[in-house]
This record gives sequence, C-alpha cells and structure tokens, in this order.
Amino acid sequence: MCLSDIRVLKFGGSSLASPELIHKVAQIIADHYHACKKVVVVVSAMGKSTDELIQLAKKVSPNAPLKHSREVDMLVSVGERISMSLVSMAIRDLGIEAVSLTGSQSGIITTESHGEAEILEIKGERILKNLEEKKVVIVAGFQGVSREKEITTLGRGGSDTTALALAHFLQSSSAYIYSDVDAYYSADPKVVKNALRYEKIPWEIGFLSSYFGAKVLHSRAAKIAAKQHLQVQMLSTFNPQRSPGLLEGDIDAKNQLFQVFTLNLKKDLKKLTTDKCALPCKDIPLEIEDCFMPSYFENRIEFPAGALKTFFYSYEKNLNPQEGLEKKLLNEAGYQSFTLVGTGLLQKKTLLQEAEKILMSFGVEIEGYDWTNLYLVLITKKLDADQKILQSLHEHFLENTN
Ligand code: ASP
Ligand code: MG
Repeated sequence: MCLSDIRVLKFGGSSLASPELIHKVAQIIADHYHACKKVVVVVSAMGKSTDELIQLAKKVSPNAPLKHSREVDMLVSVGERISMSLVSMAIRDLGIEAVSLTGSQSGIITTESHGEAEILEIKGERILKNLEEKKVVIVAGFQGVSREKEITTLGRGGSDTTALALAHFLQSSSAYIYSDVDAYYSADPKVVKNALRYEKIPWEIGFLSSYFGAKVLHSRAAKIAAKQHLQVQMLSTFNPQRSPGLLEGDIDAKNQLFQVFTLNLKKDLKKLTTDKCALPCKDIPLEIEDCFMPSYFENRIEFPAGALKTFFYSYEKNLNPQEGLEKKLLNEAGYQSFTLVGTGLLQKKTLLQEAEKILMSFGVEIEGYDWTNLYLVLITKKLDADQKILQSLHEHFLENTN
C-alpha cells in the first residue's frame, strides 16, 4: 500500500453536535472515500460533551481533574468513543465499510501523565489492516494508552494532535481539518468585524497564533505540522466546497519586513511567582517547551521582585511543585494576554507604545510583556471589555496598514 495516498480527516465537536450533523459529516467522508479509497477520520466529542463530562465529575468530586486524573481520563475519553461509533454507523448506512477504533486500539502510545499525555509512538497495525480491507477507519481523537495499559488523554483540544500525529505516521502529505472555522484569520472572525481570512499562512505564524489563542487548530498540532512539514487544510463542515485555508511554508527569511499577521486573545492565564532557581525550566508546565519561543516563560517577562521571578502560563492544572518548594510558589489566576503575531516586529520601534496607548484608552494597564521579532505579548488583568479592545487593536494594527 502506498501510504502517502492516505487521507487523514478530522472533525471537531461543533461539526458533530447532532445526528443531522453526523449525517452531513458522513457524506463529506464518503466523498473523500470515493476520491481515494484510503481514509482515516479522527473525531472529537460531540458538541460540548467534554465540558459536560468534566462538570459532571466535578459535581461528584469538586477537585476531580487534579485528585482523580486517571478516573477523569476514563470518563472524558468516552466522549470521542460516542462520536466514533455514531460516525461509523452513519458511513456504513451509506454503503461504505467503516470501523471505529479507540486511541488504544489504534496503538497510540502515550506518556503516563493523565490529562496531559504526550504521544510517544503510534503502532497503528489495526489502522493499516483495516485500510488494506478498504474500510474507512474512524479513530477516537484526544486519547491514547500508556505502556502500563492505562487510558490517557492528550489535553483539551487534543484531537487535532491525534490527527496530525496520524497524518505523519501514515506519511500523508496533507491533513484535512474540518470545523466551524475554515482558515487562520487575522483575529477571531466571531469577535472582530473585519477579520481577514488567510488563504495560506506559514507554519511558524500559525503555530504562534494558535499558541497565543487562535482557535482554528491546536498549537501542538500546528507544531507537528511545522516540524514534519505537513500541509494542513482547514475547511468548514458547514461550507465544505469553499477552498481551504492552508497552513504551510516557511517564513521567508529574506523577507523579514514588519508585518502583523494575527491578533490573539488568550484567557485564563495564571501568574506564577517563584524563586529563580527553585524551578528548573523543564518542570515548568509549558504546552510547548522548545519550538519557536524558548524565552517566553523563561526570562523575558520578569518583574523586579527581588529574588523572585514571575511567569505567566496557561494550564488547566496548578503547578505541582516538588516537596519543599511549595512555599516559594505563588499561583494567582485572573490574567489574560493580547498577542500580535507577525514578522519583523522588533523593527517597529513604537509597536509597544502604540499598543499600550490603545489599552490605556480603555483604562487597562499592561502587567507584563514579551516582545520578539515574531510576537508581542501583552499581559493584562482579566477584563470585561475584551471585544472592544480587540476591535481597536485590530483596526490599528491590521486595518491601517501604512
Ligand atoms: N473533546 C476534547 C476537548 O473538547 C478534545 C478535542 O475536542 O479536540 O477538549
Ligand atoms: Mg472538543
């Protein structure tokens, strides 16, 4: 079998929110199948069902995600299993052979860390065998199994990661990501009126936009695409004929002119204050430690607080410090960030000043920032006026392009 002909498709939760939508998705899958006969589909949980399952767990045990992370994984992994079986039935009703597989049946081997596991390896034997038999293979996203045979999940939004990891494993040249957003936009099109749609955006810019809050593709998935040079096609389930927004290509190194591509909002940041040496970098729970931004949490956003050092980070969990370090740590919720992602950002000397002026006009102070050639992150306290601020920043940096 020539692996590179295999198409990997992924459908997000909003594309699978009802039986009617599941039929629509089955039809899209059938069209791909008729075009190429080798189709692997990754599904997310229906609608908001992962949130609902987590809420349910919290009703039984308020601190469940921290206290019972294994059991929470057993619970939330069910969301994707519901989708995979229903999608498989709908495809079979169209007269196409299909089979659903859990992450574990697919041989997605992960680390042991419940709720935030990383994929170590994909065995994929059953996926390949079923493809040989011309079946559409439906894989439950967001989950895997540890070497100790425990069910794990990959962190919120992890189905995108499953899809890109499978596309790499299957040597596909492209992954098709269907959701309610069909491209990277200059800002969230549901919030900002004149958000621009990018027909194509370079990997690094897409990755950073996702990292700083763009919802179209999870940042870990964008990172896999960037590292493995995989093209990602972003499509709308609700308008599947529209040409896809592409994530591919490098930033042209010679063309490092000042250009802002995206404006992003990331909510629910926490502030962590710690002794400089107390926390070796590897213990900081970053979503991405290496890739393009080694400095983000490490040394840029620093406050003159004596020997203390401040990091901002986004994470479902609180840090679980090693024993003895606890006293030195202060975890404080209630922050968020506005981020401009682009190229040549350091060349525009007044960039920070201009952004600060806009925030000040809303009475908002900058609590910390990080500025490199590729991004300017502005940390503020959590706000109610986000939408208006995003609109103003967008008008200033993306609509007035002189
Ligand atoms: N269902 C999981 C979540 O909502 C994974 C995903 O949607 O990608 O986070
Ligand atoms: Mg979901």
